[in-house]
Amino acid sequence: MPSAYTRLIHGGAGPDPSTGAILTPIHQVTTYVQEAVGVHKGFTYTRSGNPTVRSLEEVLAAAEGTTERAVAFSTGMAATTALFLSELAAGDHVVCGAVVYGGTVRLLRQLLQKFGVRAAFVDATDPTKVEAAIETRTKIVFIETPANPTLVLTDIAAVAKIKNRTRLVVDNTFLTPALQRPLELGADAVLYSTTKFLEGHNTTVGGAILSNDAPFLERLRFVQNAVGFAQSPFEAWLTVRGLKTLPLRMKRHSDNALRVAEHLERHPRVRAVHYPGLASFPQAELARRQQQSGGGVLSFEVEGGVEAGIAVLNSVKLCALAENLGAVETLITHPASMTHADVPREDRLRGGISDGLIRLSVGLEDAEDVIADLDRALEVSC
Ligand SMILES: *Cc1c(COP(=O)(O)O)cnc(C)c1O
Repeated sequence: MPSAYTRLIHGGAGPDPSTGAILTPIHQVTTYVQEAVGVHKGFTYTRSGNPTVRSLEEVLAAAEGTTERAVAFSTGMAATTALFLSELAAGDHVVCGAVVYGGTVRLLRQLLQKFGVRAAFVDATDPTKVEAAIETRTKIVFIETPANPTLVLTDIAAVAKIKNRTRLVVDNTFLTPALQRPLELGADAVLYSTTKFLEGHNTTVGGAILSNDAPFLERLRFVQNAVGFAQSPFEAWLTVRGLKTLPLRMKRHSDNALRVAEHLERHPRVRAVHYPGLASFPQAELARRQQQSGGGVLSFEVEGGVEAGIAVLNSVKLCALAENLGAVETLITHPASMTHADVPREDRLRGGISDGLIRLSVGLEDAEDVIADLDRALEVSC
């Protein structure tokens, strides 16, 4: 079988049979003409299926190495919502890592609770805590590694080995199949916001779930059609195009992030750097075991609290002040005043999000230019 790299470039539907176009065209269409009642080519209405979206689902499967095609969604949150709607009923229970994407917490706490779904948020970096939280009604164990924005890791294989753990779903948005393969480590399903590294160019929002469990995916497709969470053809097409360069981009994101992390570690105004690729990272051994490299996201703590953090963000020029990650441009955020501003300070600190913590999604620029921009910002914001 060709390597994942080759499959990403040649995967999917291949040249268009009617014209030879080398890429699957954008089938920007709502409906499909049927030859006779019930006689059609597999597509009837774009909410329930579209050839461009299908090509994305095939390419994602090739990247992840699954036997079944992915289910693509309109956003990462639509994917997460479909997962919970599909697998949970009133009274059921989710064991969720304490540090997961904020939207995942909001969905469980502020929406699904209304429908009787219960969730326990546990420190998944300690698999015994996951095991202790499992109840008879637990239907899903949901983890994200590395966690945002502290980059702490969860040992996927260790969580997968927990007895009676039920379905283990890993949000692999930060590393993508190019750098981490949760299914090979024992997870049952992988979830993505394709908005981030998979599409990689800050041009779309999207989500996907992958698994080798065909009935599970069939249930997700049912929810997707019932609720109306389908990805649209143009976003699917842009994501297929982005995926062709995924391994190259992930390597460069990781190489750049490591250079920036090593530089910041030596900077006198930086108290700490959190990056799984650093030799000094507390879980460096686990990082080496479960990830190919450190990935494109790091965080660091500047001296001087919230004001110092805000001052650094207001002083950068090349790094874009924006709440996204995983794109070609380097993006910088200050969780205490931006993404986690609504979280009480005590809770924030307990979660490792200090006042001066800054998150950086290192892009594909020359790492030296990113370093120069950060050095200047750290200098003028003193
Ligand atoms: C962004 C993100 C999501 C949500 O995805 P959207 O495409 O923004 O809906 C879920 N998980 C992680 C880790 C993310 O970074």
